Amino acid sequence: MATGKINVSVDNIFPLIKKFLYSDHEIFLRELISNATDATLKLKHLTSIGEASVEYGNPIIEVKVDKEGKKIHIIDQGLGMTEDEVKKYINEVAFSGAEEFLDKYKDSAKDSGIIGHFGLGFYSAFMVASKVEIITKSFKDEPAVHWSCDGSPNFDLEPSDKTDRGTEIVLHVADDSTEFLEDNRISELLSKYNKFMPVPIKFGTRTETLPKPEGAKEEDEAPTEEVDNIINNPTPAWTKQPADLETKDYQEFYRELYPMQFEEPLFHIHLNVDYPFHLTGILYFPRLTNDLNSQKDKIQLYQNQVYVTDNVEGIVPEFLMMLRGVVDSPDIPLNVSRSYLQSDGAVKKISSYITRKVADKLSSLFKDNREDFEAKWNDIKIVIEYGMLSEDKFFEKADKFALYPTVDGKFFTFDELQEKLKANQTDKDGKLVILYASDKEAQHSYIETAKDKGYEVLLLDSPIISHLMQKLETSKENISFTRVDSDHIENLIKKDEAQISKLSDEEKETLKKVLEETIANKSYTIQLEAMDSAASPFIITEPEFMRRMKEMQQTGGGGMFGMGNMPEM
Ligand code: ADP
Ligand code: MG
Repeated sequence: MATGKINVSVDNIFPLIKKFLYSDHEIFLRELISNATDATLKLKHLTSIGEASVEYGNPIIEVKVDKEGKKIHIIDQGLGMTEDEVKKYINEVAFSGAEEFLDKYKDSAKDSGIIGHFGLGFYSAFMVASKVEIITKSFKDEPAVHWSCDGSPNFDLEPSDKTDRGTEIVLHVADDSTEFLEDNRISELLSKYNKFMPVPIKFGTRTETLPKPEGAKEEDEAPTEEVDNIINNPTPAWTKQPADLETKDYQEFYRELYPMQFEEPLFHIHLNVDYPFHLTGILYFPRLTNDLNSQKDKIQLYQNQVYVTDNVEGIVPEFLMMLRGVVDSPDIPLNVSRSYLQSDGAVKKISSYITRKVADKLSSLFKDNREDFEAKWNDIKIVIEYGMLSEDKFFEKADKFALYPTVDGKFFTFDELQEKLKANQTDKDGKLVILYASDKEAQHSYIETAKDKGYEVLLLDSPIISHLMQKLETSKENISFTRVDSDHIENLIKKDEAQISKLSDEEKETLKKVLEETIANKSYTIQLEAMDSAASPFIITEPEFMRRMKEMQQTGGGGMFGMGNMPEM
């Protein structure tokens, strides 16, 4: 047996990076702006701890597109690099130094919000550029340097006459990537990935109208001024303390996040945890409508204010994916596959934290202002009912505030319902019979008959209510849900054996035959024992279990439950 060392030829590494490093070429800009941000935040950190004796000032990052020269410039006023640092961080990083950097950044990220992760981001520039230049001057008193590389493993490094601190990256855009020389395309990328990054980012200028000077005439034009076009909000609401924010701040941020959403969210939940993982964010409960537009406004995932994705599967519990908002956590291992993510311990903790926060918020809304909670119930019930079905922990909490409305517009919690019904609404075995209707119009006469007897009838019309009833029946003792038209009311809540039909046996036979021929559906039962009201000589019923089985099959039966089966909303 022989052993040996595989020789990796670096000549081949650039084509590989270009092809496989990231599936999305457009993220190059995110990576380079992240580096510029890191360089700025590092300097901030160093000046604040007295390790850099320079003026920090109000640094910005500038992105410039030179369409004619086929170049993109990313310019920062951060800490810059010395010649040795360029050699160390740029020339070696991707091949040997990645781990060292990862460790280092983890440390400094704690107090300064530094983004860098795998020591590969810089090389994403070669996905769109045939040549990359770095012109950089360190905050340390050392000469500026100019590095350039055309994608081969050879680079040039020479002195530069740059005098101001910071780094300029110049991308010579490759022929297959000229889309990135369009201002619109760059704007699109900036607003997708960089909208909430912590250092101001300038892209061009815009014209601002100034107030007219005193004494100006009506017909005088207001003066204007060219100002930097800053594309980001460096301090988005989720990075602030909840105590410093008012409802209107949350509403404003909602609009910033979803400029096309004109309807106010019902309420928000501010997430904020430091231990055992870092996570911040704001979730919003939208009014769920049939508006197709609303479905593309999903929860967005950020890491240190850099947009990562709106695919939060595995991180946010399934039943909460209908919500909107932002989750920001540096602790989500995004370099791994989605299936791994779902089994990762930290990620599971994040998901259950979010579930708990949502349950607690709902619970306090219920306790603090029940009237308002009842008014919102119809708009939020679908999320709560899904949650009760899919997460036992959520069920436990939600069981205290989930509401069961009656046909008369009253709302009961389950406990209240039980208390209310126990005297009057039990069957002969003492089991609580919870009568409900799913359609006030269609089941009107059944509802009236039940009400005449003094019974409460719930109005339960969610698409998944059959599943929830099933769950309640198994988790609570001695209760059953029965739709008002599932049998004769006398059979549903059996007190005595009274028969009340006024028809003779012969008449019954004839009538039954006629009815059976007319009504094709075999799961219906025809009962000739008239209901109390004289207007109903006979009733047609469908046993609860038959109907519920059909319904559950339609909405994903057999206890199997997933969003995939969710009805269109
Ligand atoms: P990461 O950001 O994950 O550390 P990158 O490949 O994106 O890895 O960058 C490698 C290193 O190059 C950075 O860690 C940093 O030391 C240096 N660097 C890159 N861009 C800049 C910049 N604009 N200013 C200063 N240093 C930079
Ligand atoms: Mg980076």
